[in-house]
This record gives sequence, C-alpha cells and structure tokens, in this order.
Amino acid sequence: MNYSVVKIPSQTKKETKYSVLIIYTGGTLGMSYDDSGTLSPFNFEGIINELPVLKSMDLELTVVSFAEPIDSSNVTIDHWNLLASIIEKNYPDHDGFVILHGTDTLAYSASALSFMLDGLQKPVIFTGSQLPMGAVRTDANQNLIAALQIASSYDHRRPLIQEVCVYFNYFLYRGNRVKKVESVHFDAFESENYPPLAEIGISIDYNFAALKSVTASSPLQVHLMKPTSIALIKLFPGLSEQLFKHTLQVRELQGVVLETFGSGNAPTAPWFTESIKEAISNNIIIFNVSQCNGGRVIQGRYETSKHLKESGVLSGRDITTEAALAKMQFLFSTHREFEEIGTSLTTALRGEMSH
Ligand code: ASP
Repeated sequence: MNYSVVKIPSQTKKETKYSVLIIYTGGTLGMSYDDSGTLSPFNFEGIINELPVLKSMDLELTVVSFAEPIDSSNVTIDHWNLLASIIEKNYPDHDGFVILHGTDTLAYSASALSFMLDGLQKPVIFTGSQLPMGAVRTDANQNLIAALQIASSYDHRRPLIQEVCVYFNYFLYRGNRVKKVESVHFDAFESENYPPLAEIGISIDYNFAALKSVTASSPLQVHLMKPTSIALIKLFPGLSEQLFKHTLQVRELQGVVLETFGSGNAPTAPWFTESIKEAISNNIIIFNVSQCNGGRVIQGRYETSKHLKESGVLSGRDITTEAALAKMQFLFSTHREFEEIGTSLTTALRGEMSH
C-alpha cells in the first residue's frame, strides 16, 4: 500500500508554528457525487481547494493521502498498519496528527490505533463528517478545523492531548470509547461510559480530569496487527444451537467477543453452557461485552451470568464491542501465551475500560 504527500504552505508569518500531519484515508468528508448520485472518494488535493482557510491557519500542514482513498467499510488491518507506520515515520517531526476517516468504521480504527501506538505522547485525532466537504450545510469544515486546532493545542511545548481521540460535532472523545450511533444526524458518535475530553463552543473547554496524563517521557513503540481468527457473537433469543456450537468448534478460532444481554447475561441452557466450557478448555478466549451502550458487565450479578464466570469467561466490564475486538486483535498479534492474553484483556491498557 502506498500514499502521496502534499505540503500546504501557510500564509501566516509567525515563526513558531506547530506542525500537523493530516492523513486522508477516504470517507464522506472527501467524497463527491458522481453522475448517478452515488458518493465515491475523490483526490484529496480537491479538498484543499474546498477549504482555503487551511492556508491561513497558523500551522505547518502536511497532507498524506492514501493512494486509493477508501470508504471505511473497506478498512482492513493493512490500513491500520499503514496508518501506524505513517505516524511512526513522521512522529519526531510533527506536533500532532489528524486522521480523516469514514465514520462507519472509525470507532474500530481509533480503538485499534490506541493499542498499536504504545507510549504515544502526541495528539492523534480521528475525524470525518456526515456530509461531503462541498455540500452547502456540511459538517466537514468544522470537524476538520477543530480537529486541527486540538492536534496543535500545546501548553508550554507540552501537548494537551497525548492519546488517540475522536473529534466529532463539537465534542472530543477518547478514541477507544466511542461508538457510531447515528447515520443521519450530525452527532454520529457517543461515548456512553467515559466523559467527553473536550467540548467546543466559542472556546475549546478541556476536561482535564478525564485526559490521559503522562508524566515520564516514553518512546513511541508501534505494534503492527497480524491476521487473527476471532469472532463476534451477538446473543439473541432464538440463536441456533447448531450454529453457535459450530462457530465455537472452528479449528482456527482463537477468541470470541460475546455480546451478551444487559449486565453480561446469557442463556443457561445446557447446550449453551457446555459449548462455552468446551471452547475455554480448548484455549479459546471468550470476552463478555454487553449489548447495552451504557453500564457494564458484572458477571455473577444474575444467575444467568454466574455460569459464565465459573467457566472462565472474561468480563469486558464497560468496554465497547469495537474496542474489545481491536484489543483482542492487538493481543493476539503481539502476545503468544493464553494466560498473558487473558490478563491483558481484563486490564485497562489505554483507558479503554474502567476498573
Ligand atoms: N460510508 C462512509 C465511510 O465510512 C460514511 C462516512 O464517511 O461517514 O467511509
């Protein structure tokens, strides 16, 4: 996979400028309507013409564009690895990073990058938009400009944000806490279990208590994702016994994110409980995540979750499904031992779950 680089010269004459790298992956923000009315990605240079104000921002901007911008439904671990490698390569020379990404899978990518960028001490801000940049009432311009301002917010040469975040529709969120919850209105993202890191009005109001605080300096260590064999199983009344058993018996299966009801509850039918026990005895990791956006998994609170705990199912507490999948992919890419993966899965590594 390759990419191209474009420098946007700033028109301001100020000497100390923060340098921000914009990585354009695709998504609605940079799409245009073709003759049949379908949205498809276009070349990023066109976007700069759409937003000349970028040149008057007090920033050194460099734009890296995926050679083939994608609709984010096509995101793969190769794209995540490319993003992480671009950041690693440009880390010493840039003060912040803005990733322009389609909203559909943005929560997955922001979660993945939060795990892959170990020791991150600079802002990495994902954003996108619900309408393309050229649309009259677009949200793209505001989202991009605010993301750039946040990515260059420093206090005495120290970045205010030192983690992977999502900026969207006047709010800044921790990247591994968001979910896409809206496909029509502008408030596309929600972070039900962790407060916004900032709210944008006429000023940017940071919630300092919620920000990741870094004291000692640490080098950036990038971990690339490798192909894994994990599954997401969402429980529902009427789930086929056969299908469930077959999925858990797939030979390559390494782990399952199990989306359970309410506070982590699941059927107590013997076929279900036995299949879970058998899978765990075959070293398949089962990670319990709730179907509710808010609240948390508490295994053992109800009879219907006690058996999960007793069988060795791991509690995802208040983690999102998106972050749970990314975390599992990350751990299977970087760790080998079953025990070690289990311990890391239930430990907050990047603020993705509460204690
Ligand atoms: N389908 C688009 C994408 O995720 C939607 C968006 O950009 O908001 O790439």
